[in-house]
Amino acid sequence: MEIETKQPQQAELDAERQQQARQYARIRRRLMLVSLVIAAISIAFVLGTGLDKWLRNQLHALSWQPVAGWFPVQILVYFLILILAYQLITSPLAYYSGFVLPHRFGLSTMTLRAWLVDLFKGLGLSLILEVCVIELIYALLALQPQTWWLEVGLIMLFFSVIMANLAPVLIFPLFYKFTPLPEGELTERLLALAQRAHTKVRGVFSMKMSDKTTAANAALMGLGNTRRIVIGDTMLDRYTTDEIEVVLAHELGHHVHADIWKLIISQAVLTLGGLYIANLVLHWLVETQHAYLALTDAATLPFFFLLTGVFSLIVMPIGNTYSRLIEYQADEYALQVTRNASAFKSAMTRLANQNLAELEPSPIFEFLFYDHPSIGKRLKHADEFMS
Ligand SMILES: [Zn+2]
Repeated sequence: MEIETKQPQQAELDAERQQQARQYARIRRRLMLVSLVIAAISIAFVLGTGLDKWLRNQLHALSWQPVAGWFPVQILVYFLILILAYQLITSPLAYYSGFVLPHRFGLSTMTLRAWLVDLFKGLGLSLILEVCVIELIYALLALQPQTWWLEVGLIMLFFSVIMANLAPVLIFPLFYKFTPLPEGELTERLLALAQRAHTKVRGVFSMKMSDKTTAANAALMGLGNTRRIVIGDTMLDRYTTDEIEVVLAHELGHHVHADIWKLIISQAVLTLGGLYIANLVLHWLVETQHAYLALTDAATLPFFFLLTGVFSLIVMPIGNTYSRLIEYQADEYALQVTRNASAFKSAMTRLANQNLAELEPSPIFEFLFYDHPSIGKRLKHADEFMS
């Protein structure tokens, strides 16, 4: 692969693409609302009709207990039935928002077959992880009914560090092909940037996104010996070298600021808080309200889902606000280290055009759902830097 400098001129915002971006965002907002309503109705139905206890009674035969109070097989089957039923109910919505809509807006380049393969790979992976977490929760609830939340939180923290380390070599290659960036001007510029930051980059990789999407992206991935900067081929082939350098500087900023660690730790704190609340509510429900047979009753699973859903809705704006701060700081780093605000602005403009990103989303929407500052804010940041 050869990297050429293309489109050396300053990118300009495409008014027509912005029109499309607003329309795309509006449809996605509605879809998000619809899926939230479906989730709320589903959980209300399960809890309101007593389906949660009925299903547990149906699975009575599976109450094998390796440890008193822990029913791993019953929990597993109960979870699989619920989650697969939910996936089935929401599959038309998943198909529309994941396949139909991005095609309609020219963002997806996937065939239906390839999309389905990715979908099932993703579902399979998350099922495995979720089953591990749920079995861990119920095993520790049986063994340590008072302190399970702390142990679960700490084990999950440990596991997320391992996963952050392994993901670039174990998980992401299941979805994307990575190739080391060839020697050349870009690689040299990046090494120079890293040298000035007194840090080492373990590697820069090109990620083959073009067979899935027309959108561009770049990221810092991994921890320790797997940490790397990754850049989409959809960016490499249509951004100028200056623009890519600014993007790489932004990613290097994440590394210099140890942002992956910050995100892991802040996530762990939130998770621990959520688990503690779950602990209090569960004890109250079982010991005071006698709503379930025991703390480890499989019928408490829908209640866990409800709690997880409500809790993530509440903490999402907190997590996103923190993420936007981290992204702002990485932008600031990129501007400081390259001193090239015009390339920064040009790259951001190209991103808005290419990814159908709204320049100025509604402030409330940005506050709730955006993990990066809006492109409009990032352009303003560069303007302020220049002045
Ligand atoms: Zn970033």
